[in-house]
Amino acid sequence: MSDPRRRIPRTDALLALPPVTEARERLGDTAVREIIRNAQESARRGEISPDDVGRHVADAVRVHRVSSSRPVLNATGVVVHTNLGRAPLSAAALDAVVAASGYVDVELDLHTGQRSKRGAATRAALLRACPAADDALMVNNGAAALVLATTALAAGRAVVISRGEMIEIGAGFRLTELIASTGARLHEVGTTNRTHLRDYADAVAGDDVGAILKVHPSNFRVEGFTRETSLGELRDLGRAHGVPVIADIGSGLLQPDPLLPDEPDATSALSAGADLVIASGDKLLGGPQAGLLLGDAELIQRLAGHPLARAVRADKLALAAMEATVSGPRPPVHEYLHADTDRLRVRTENLGAATGFQIVEHDGRVGGGGAPGVPLHGWAVRLPVSAAQSLRLGDPAVLPRVHDDACLIDLRCIPEADDPLVLAAIKQAAFGA
Ligand SMILES: *Cc1c(COP(=O)(O)O)cnc(C)c1O
Repeated sequence: MSDPRRRIPRTDALLALPPVTEARERLGDTAVREIIRNAQESARRGEISPDDVGRHVADAVRVHRVSSSRPVLNATGVVVHTNLGRAPLSAAALDAVVAASGYVDVELDLHTGQRSKRGAATRAALLRACPAADDALMVNNGAAALVLATTALAAGRAVVISRGEMIEIGAGFRLTELIASTGARLHEVGTTNRTHLRDYADAVAGDDVGAILKVHPSNFRVEGFTRETSLGELRDLGRAHGVPVIADIGSGLLQPDPLLPDEPDATSALSAGADLVIASGDKLLGGPQAGLLLGDAELIQRLAGHPLARAVRADKLALAAMEATVSGPRPPVHEYLHADTDRLRVRTENLGAATGFQIVEHDGRVGGGGAPGVPLHGWAVRLPVSAAQSLRLGDPAVLPRVHDDACLIDLRCIPEADDPLVLAAIKQAAFGA
């Protein structure tokens, strides 16, 4: 009897199969050949029959994707979910990204044909959205903005920071270590719970200070016997000594949000006395990953002109998405934060009725280190905890909140148009249908 492995189809024959020729354009030659090689090897190892290799390859090219990123329906109720890529982009921002993805006038004036300033339209949009700022610069992310500011303003000198604001943001990322890595020296003042103006004043009088940095502690709060020094007090001190005051507000709100009264915003920080505000683009601002520097024109120009600015410069896709986020319709993060609770309840009840599962009260959260003490009141459908993995592995993937030995589906961060997908996913996960 002949060796069955001889019956394994040759690569040429497999490449000529109609589903494979069709897939080659979508997947590229390398991926298609790898799929073929894997199927042939499976047959050689006896895992599949040689007669099945063709069907195997056809199935594999049909489901294969060149990007392994899988969209996820966020049923956790956490609006800025770090593990899900923080802010989802608005439809307007997505259109802008697509438009910017080819050749684009990011650094060209089409009137004159001459080179123009990179990201000028995004800068203008940011200044319209935050008129309290005289100038704006967008870089790769919030951490990069902080590195650029401390390097350009305080390398070889001291950055004064309160011990109450020496935070770790997440995944072991410590602001203080980041600053120390730039060649600026940290000059810590005050205590964990109380820092007075005189602590800053002593530092400025006794050290070579490049900047005073005030950091919003984002993900924790110190309560009780506390004292922090206001931006207004620091501005006066800074002005008297020619030292700029930087406020790292983290979340990226450009204007105050009444729903989040303790969350700082760029406009208030600048009005209160910050010379420079640093913020993230993909937290509460609801845009792409970015770091925003807003404030004094002369300081921003110094940062923009520093060699490091080139190393942390914003991508053309992010510039386009940011412009659309701040000048277009309100992004999903804003909609989800301010979701109408009555509507949420109706949607949740409908989902409960259609699946037979119970509805419970459930508080969503801001997430991304923002407003840790603020619950976002709402509801959830309560499934057995065993449904969670099937939901995550479904198509589309649904990420529930696993809590108190239950699998909770909170619709706050899911567009209403996707409710039927959630219903189908629950039926599949809970009943296999
Ligand atoms: C999130 C955050 C950062 C870091 O911003 P990224 O955009 O994540 O780099 C810095 N400072 C504060 C206060 C933050 O909350």
